[in-house]
Amino acid sequence: MKPIPLAKPIIGRQERKAVIRVLKSGNLAQGTEVKAFEEEFSKVVEGRDCVAVNSGTSALHLALLSLNIGPGHEVIVPSFTFAATANSVALTGAKPIFVDIEPLTFNIDPIEIEKAVTKNTRAIQVVHLYGLPANMPDIIKIAKKYNLLIIEDAAQAHGANIQGKPVGTFGDAAAFSFYPTKNMTTGEGGMIVFADEIATKKARLLRNQGMEKRYTNEIVGFNLRMTEFQAAIGRIQLKKLSTWNKTRQENAYFYSNNLQNVLTPHITPGYEHVFHQYTIRIKKERDQVQDFLRAQKISCEVYYPTQVHKLPSFECDMELPQTLAATKEVLSLPIRPDLSSRELNFIVRILEEATKR
Ligand SMILES: *Cc1c(COP(=O)(O)O)cnc(C)c1O
Repeated sequence: MKPIPLAKPIIGRQERKAVIRVLKSGNLAQGTEVKAFEEEFSKVVEGRDCVAVNSGTSALHLALLSLNIGPGHEVIVPSFTFAATANSVALTGAKPIFVDIEPLTFNIDPIEIEKAVTKNTRAIQVVHLYGLPANMPDIIKIAKKYNLLIIEDAAQAHGANIQGKPVGTFGDAAAFSFYPTKNMTTGEGGMIVFADEIATKKARLLRNQGMEKRYTNEIVGFNLRMTEFQAAIGRIQLKKLSTWNKTRQENAYFYSNNLQNVLTPHITPGYEHVFHQYTIRIKKERDQVQDFLRAQKISCEVYYPTQVHKLPSFECDMELPQTLAATKEVLSLPIRPDLSSRELNFIVRILEEATKR
């Protein structure tokens, strides 16, 4: 068996052609391709306004800034996530407040959110981890009760939905990532989705030096623009997204029906999981199981080995027991849409060997 990578981008003839078309056009920086990508992406988020940027992290950061979050504010975030979720909050000058997750879904626990609300709380930044939507109905109730904004970190959840309502449409803003390992890619890239026009306008200004009209800078801004070739790739990838997600779900279904001795991912009824990661829980000797798989050239990863609030960048003195347990027990298996059934069967067999010792 050849080595089985955990994630790799699927780039085809159409993407290559699109990049060459852009290179030949001579227009490389943010222009008509970016605009078209934003309009096409808007269709998967119920027509909400979309602003393309150079990464998912930039998308989170600009989403927060455009909602006027900054110094003096607290933003509630999960600690079981990629550091960018909390970094984006800290970069605005606001304080990330870390709360625990639900053990079953790995997503932020609404009960813990409510306990963490103070008079300084301004927003909740939820993550739809691994591609499973967070409990948005309960989170929206809390946000209404305490008058809080909601930002969705949808970096891992393109196309996920709750009873047909897509992630990215529950909050005041949402951020998607197009990093090469995500369900669709532009190389590097991100998309912000907004519920209201004022925030959209502010994000467009902040993305481009604070100007809409050239050399009429209205506010102090960044350069976080997406390139035309990134957008051209994204437009093609977007067309393939739902087919890829379906194949990820089929692969997940196969694993969940065949894996033994491990806890397979929970799916809340009515929630559509798009399996950015297929993450199992192994109660004992997780690291040995990982080594066993790797020895067979099956790549598998621990997302995430460290609680974000315990990273040297945050060093918070608090305990989040469910988050801690998850860091010790999770293991993500290859779930790419281009896995063969031979590879899937092989992974099931090796994992069974690894766990029955
Ligand atoms: C990938 C990711 C990000 C950041 O996206 P980049 O495009 O890599 O900047 C943020 N949050 C989560 C949960 C992610 O998985």
